[in-house]
Amino acid sequence: MPLVSSTPLLEAARAQGYGIGAFNVHTLEMLQAVVEAAEETQSPLILQSTVGTVKHLGADYIAAAAQTAAARAHVPIALHLDHCTDFDTIIQCIRAGYTSVMIDASMHSFEENVIQTRRVVDIARAAGVNVEAELGKVGGVEDDIVVAEHEALMADPDECVRFVELTGVPTLAPAIGTAHGIYKGEPNIDFGRIERIAGKVPLPLVLHGGSGIPEEQVKRCISLGMAKMNIATEIRIIFSNAIKKVFAEHPSENDPRKYMIPAKQAVKEAAMDKMRMVGSIGKAKEWK
Ligand SMILES: [Zn+2]
Repeated sequence: MPLVSSTPLLEAARAQGYGIGAFNVHTLEMLQAVVEAAEETQSPLILQSTVGTVKHLGADYIAAAAQTAAARAHVPIALHLDHCTDFDTIIQCIRAGYTSVMIDASMHSFEENVIQTRRVVDIARAAGVNVEAELGKVGGVEDDIVVAEHEALMADPDECVRFVELTGVPTLAPAIGTAHGIYKGEPNIDFGRIERIAGKVPLPLVLHGGSGIPEEQVKRCISLGMAKMNIATEIRIIFSNAIKKVFAEHPSENDPRKYMIPAKQAVKEAAMDKMRMVGSIGKAKEWK
């Protein structure tokens, strides 16, 4: 099937209390690995690229690879642009075929965040593309966006309600204590805040910084209303470590078709584990 908007996938997930894994991929092998994981587990899938990966590979290359994967697959697949602060890149990605975009204006004032998000929602809606926006600030490093831990601000539940009313955004990423990158110790997730936000905002909520959150905490976030979990750092490290291992054991290996195989397999296994954790296994069946 063609790439689909992530809106109906995430709405079904929120309504039924499961989550969908959204995986940041940087190479064709990583993309194929998570698609294979979704096929094998019959999970709906969100492929993601950061702005850095769009600059590295090109939105058209990424969209073409994702479209080919979706055409071959028997599970619904959406293609999402993660954390974009720049309107022109969002337009470029929608034109290339992305079916979901994130406008991250969370570093601005509430009013400016509303203006920028509203502008993207108006354009994306006409194109049948989902929009995700962030309220509060998720800590850590994502591409060029660096938020120090003491700067990370939690989203306010009443502000979330006003934000959704003013922007019409279909998917919301409220900062609730998770961070990008790998956690030192356990993440400090504010479950009460998730519950209060989810109680007032019936939309699918997005859990950023999903790498390394303990399983019990992931499940609790999803049971409270988080419908999308972003995984970036963890699979990037797994992919790279598998390649390093090949070179450590076989320093003369020089065929990417060989040294990429264990890396692809490792990402596939990690992705399947996340799909199990968020409860998406078998959920692709209803989209046939
Ligand atoms: Zn994020």
